[in-house]
Amino acid sequence: MSLGCLPTEIQLQIISYINDFGALRSLHRTNRHFSSLVRRDQVHAALFEFEHSHKDWLIQVNYFPCYSCLRISPRTEHWFQDLVIANSTADICGADALSRRCRACDAKEGNKFLKSLM
Ligand SMILES: [Zn+2]
Repeated sequence: MSLGCLPTEIQLQIISYINDFGALRSLHRTNRHFSSLVRRDQVHAALFEFEHSHKDWLIQVNYFPCYSCLRISPRTEHWFQDLVIANSTADICGADALSRRCRACDAKEGNKFLKSLM
């Protein structure tokens, strides 16, 4: 029996126990039904946890997550790069991480994130 065959109430209960970012993102991208069942705040919390637990690796490979599209992309695709150049002591995985957007997502949102950095 697949997850899709279960009643929605049971699916929601099962999904509520998932805290792995990769699993949540994959489920979110499966189809519209599962996309609607996975809560955005649950995915953000899992991504935030992933970012913190892989902070050293993310810095080493120069990749950072976007909390809008949920992609983990090269530093050059984030305004974040400019912030680091301007302030080398910036806490890259701090409390402000949840507002981080890649440049493409930020442009769709009127460059709110970029403006918050100024
Ligand atoms: Zn993005």
